[in-house]
Parts: sequence; structure tokens; C-alpha cells
Amino acid sequence: MTKVLVIEDEELLRDNLMEILEDEGFQVIDADNGHRGIELAIAEKPDLILCDVMMPGLDGYSVLNILSQDPTMAAIPFIFLTAKATKDDFRQGMELGADDYLTKPFTKPELLKGIASRLGKKTAEQQRYKTLQEFYNIELQHAKEQLNYLSRYDHLTNLPNRLALRELFRQVKSTDIGKKQLITILCLSLDRFNQVKENLGYEFGDLLLKAVAQRIKACISLPDKVVHLDADQFAIILATTQHKKEALTIAQIILDNLSQTFNLSGEEVFITASIGIALYPRDGRLIERLLKNANLAMVQAKRQGGNQYQFYSVAFHIGFSDRLALQTSLRYALEREELEVHYQPIVTLKTGRIVGTEALVRWRHPEKGMILPSKLTAVAEETGLIVPIGEWLFQKACQQVQVWHNSGFESLRLAVNLSGRQFNQMELRQKLVQIIGTIGFNPGYLELELNESILMQNVEVAIRRLNGLKALGIQIAIDDFGTGYSSLGYLQQFPCDILRIDQSFIHNIADKTNQAAITKAIIEMAKNLNLRVIAKGVESPSQLSFIYRHQCDEMQGYLFKRPVQAPEFEELLKSRKRLPLPSTAEWRL
Ligand code: C2E
Ligand code: MG
Repeated sequence: MTKVLVIEDEELLRDNLMEILEDEGFQVIDADNGHRGIELAIAEKPDLILCDVMMPGLDGYSVLNILSQDPTMAAIPFIFLTAKATKDDFRQGMELGADDYLTKPFTKPELLKGIASRLGKKTAEQQRYKTLQEFYNIELQHAKEQLNYLSRYDHLTNLPNRLALRELFRQVKSTDIGKKQLITILCLSLDRFNQVKENLGYEFGDLLLKAVAQRIKACISLPDKVVHLDADQFAIILATTQHKKEALTIAQIILDNLSQTFNLSGEEVFITASIGIALYPRDGRLIERLLKNANLAMVQAKRQGGNQYQFYSVAFHIGFSDRLALQTSLRYALEREELEVHYQPIVTLKTGRIVGTEALVRWRHPEKGMILPSKLTAVAEETGLIVPIGEWLFQKACQQVQVWHNSGFESLRLAVNLSGRQFNQMELRQKLVQIIGTIGFNPGYLELELNESILMQNVEVAIRRLNGLKALGIQIAIDDFGTGYSSLGYLQQFPCDILRIDQSFIHNIADKTNQAAITKAIIEMAKNLNLRVIAKGVESPSQLSFIYRHQCDEMQGYLFKRPVQAPEFEELLKSRKRLPLPSTAEWRL
């Protein structure tokens, strides 16, 4: 296989180049700076080098200059990638011995043509050298294969290691199954492994890792792959799943299996794991990116207490320093009164009137402007600040809606989101009782929204907590319903009153027939279970017509109103605005 070395500091371009070349059957190695590029060129002896000219530190010219001192390196075709191809640059490169230039941005055919012509030209020169080498190569090959095996397998667990990951991913991708099905990358790390090792010794740690590897392997089937990344970290490539839900089932099976007692050398030990999940190609096209993202999700799962899985989300990507800065300023946001509550109406499809409101947090950052909840809650959840913020929002929203109750809108319901950390607080119920008690808010008008994934983390505990809240008269809504976490069977076990259909379904009703069918099925199922159904994110009359036709109970969405601040919401209430409902004639057509 022809080996190409890509030296390019721009991550996106490097990823793209690698993907194109890998798809064309090249073996690709990459470096993000000149020094690393030289190291790799010497160690791996590629058949061709693609090298960026402008790089911080050692630039492309210096790389070529250094490599050309070594006669074996000088024989490797060298192509420069450059954004500015002036005559001077061109000359300077050629004098140093570059074989060609590709001016960015270049197309895939241009790239492949450039590579093909350079490989062809050098072949004749290299032929003589190659014949001499062939003699030695046979024996060398044998030694290489052995080295390859040893360097690509972990001797402790007998699993492929990090070096083998890219090749395994390529294999999965190229199988028929991989082409049709979903490829899921799990990054698994044991919780408290260092503690176990410190208490029971390093040898015991090794025994445990071996046993863990066996248990993980037992949970998957070919052609899925398990890789021992390092220490207590494993990667799993799932090629046999068709839906996100199946991948989750496997992740849960792995977690359940690992949390069973290990009996090793007369010691009994309990250990749990955290799993981060990334999906190909949604969360990345290259295995390196996918693993990085799965790893970010795994860290998040650990931060939330471990023994759970977590999907990768773009919100985890807020840069580290950005994140730190946000965390620091979020600490003061409450004191500086930078947080706001916005209210979005919930409308009944019986009359088109407002029956409730969802309270949504907003952060008016002094420099960054308005920060929406997706970013805010990710940072707040991580630091634990979500707890005081959630409490503040709950109190503020209850006070506000109580004012509206007192001014004649006495049956307006209030919906508040609860995060995982809030829901898992031991004293949640007590705190809620205290707040609503002080305000005099009737809990019968309160709905708490919980994400499916929060409930699925520990079903038994969740049921117990929900029952505790329901005993107060509070209603429970399952938010983002349909995003694929829970099986419908579980739903029956949860003491809930309301299903909020995720907006991704509503948005695709018109052009994706299966989304429409799922939405219809969710509504029907909810009716059978005696649950109220709310369609979220309704933006167009055709979406409204669909949910109306299928007898959804309520809607929320920009079609009626975006979330607004309290005074504007009050105006809306007073105006008695109604959502124009589709006429029967219209939807029967
Ligand atoms: P959610 O509970 O599903 O809230 C509805 C989200 O959909 C809101 O986004 C709302 O602005 C948006 N939305 C409403 N109608 C439409 C529409 O027609 N089209 C589109 N494209 N979007 C619509 P927002 O405010 O950014 O909130 C996002 C999520 O953040 C919420 O989703 C909720 O899960 C979470 N969140 C918001 N406030 C809080 C909070 O105070 N505490 C906690 N724990 N989570 C919160
Ligand atoms: Mg919500």
C-alpha cells in the first residue's frame, strides 16, 4: 500500500486530505507540525510527502531543507501545499528539491492528479534502488510483521491497541455492513480505577483489566471491535447496530456487566465505568476526531457521577479556556443579575388559547451578549452551578406566575426544566416544597420537565423520586421524547403525565414520512397511556395541521410565539391572543 505523509497544521484541511487519501486506498500518516513531520518521515519512510509551506515553528521550506540532507529522504517525492503560489515561492521550493506545488484551495481531482504524476516520475529512479533492496526485504518483511503485531496489540489484555484503531475503523467502514449501518464509537473508562490499584496493588489492577477486557468482549459480537487504548481506557467500534437506540442498549449492557462483582485472587471488587458515545459520520469522519469526541462525552459522564453513558454534544466543545472563563463569570452572573427568565406560551389545540408557559433561562453576558441554554446549562451542569441557578429560576418563575394567577389568569400552568444534577439532589423535594410554600403557589399548576436520558440513568431511583414529586400534586413531563433513549416499555413504568415530542420530529413531518409516522405513533401511544401530548417547535401551518389532525393536545413553537420576557408575556395574556386553528375542511383534504 502506498504510504503518504501529510504535514499540515490546519486541522480541518488535514482531516479532509486524510479522508480523501484513505478512501483512495492510501495508507496515510499525519503530522500537525514540521518537527513531527520530520520524525515521521524518518521513522516511517513514506512513498510521498505532502507538506504545508506556512506553518508556525518549522515551516515547509525548513522541513524540505532538513530532509534533503539525507539521501534516502531526498528520494521521496515532496509536494508543497501553499495558499500563495508566487513565482518566488515556487522557485525557492524547487531549488530546495520540491517536486510539485498544489495551490490551496485545490480540488480532489487536482490532488490525486498531482500525487499520481509524482509517484510515476519517481518510480523509475527508485526502481534500481528497489531491486537491490528486494533481496533484503523478504527477511525484513517477516521481522516487520512480527513487530507490527507486537506494536499493534496490547500484551496484557491481548486486544488491539491504539495504533491499530485506524486500521480497524477502516475495515469496519469498508464492510457492507459498515456502509449501510450506523457506526458508533464508544470510549469507556473505569471509574475509580486508580483507587482500586492503590488499595489492592498494581498486579491486581492488571488482573482486573484483563477481566474487564473479557467482559466487554462478551457483550459485543463480530465485526464489532474492542481496543485497549491505555491504562483503564477502552474503545469499542460498533458496526452491528442500525439505530442509536441499539447502540445505547449495548452501552447499557456493558455498564451492567461491568458493575457485577469481580472475584479475582480471592478478592471481591466492585467497579463501574463511564462511556462516551460518538456517531459516524455525524460527530466526525475520521476515527481520531470520533474518539476525541467520544472521550469528551466520557469525561462528561464521569463528571456527572460515573456509571452512565453520555452522547457527544457540540456544547462539550466550547474551548477549554473559553469554558473556564464562562465558568468563572457564571459564578458571578447570579449576583450581578445577568440571568433572566423568558416565557414561552403553551397553547391548547382545543381552543387555540394559552394554557401554560415554559420558563427558560437566558444569560445576558456583559461581553458575549445573550447566551442560550445549550451552552449555559453545559457549563453550569459541569460546575454544579446548575443547582443554585435552577433554584433561582424556579423561585423567580413561581413568583411571576403567581402574580399572573392573582391578576385573573388563575389556571395558567408553569413548566420548568430540571437538569440531571437537580433531579439527583437528595433534598430536591424539600427545596421545592419550601419555595412553593413560601410563595403560596398551587403545585397542581406546576409541571417539571425531565429529559428521557436523565430518567434512564437509574430507572428504579427515578421512579421513586418521581412518585415523591407527584405526591405533592406536581405533574411530570418527559421532555425531548422520541430522541431514542428510552424504549416505550419503560415509559409505562414512569409515573408521568405529559409527553413533549421532540422538535426534530415536528420539523421533519412534512418531508420525512417515517418521522411523520413516528409522531403519529407517539401521539396514539400517549393517548392509550392517558398522557397529555405537547408538540414542541411548531413553526409552520402545515406542522400545526398535522398535529391537529392527529389530535395532539397542545403545541409550543415560533408559529405562535418565541420565548419572551415577563412584561411581553403579560401583554400576550391580556391580549387574549388565539392560535388560528386549521379548519376541519382544510385538514380533511
Ligand atoms: P426545551 O425544554 O425543549 O425548550 C424548548 C426549546 O425550544 C427552547 O430553546 C425554545 O426557545 C425552543 N423553541 C421553542 N419553539 C421553537 C420553534 O418553533 N422552533 C425552534 N427551532 N425552537 C423552538 P432554549 O430556550 O434554547 O432551551 C433549550 C433547552 O435548554 C430547553 O429545551 C431545556 O431543555 C434547556 N433549558 C432551558 N432553560 C433551562 C433551565 O432553566 N434549566 C434547565 N435545567 N434546563 C433549561
Ligand atoms: Mg423543556
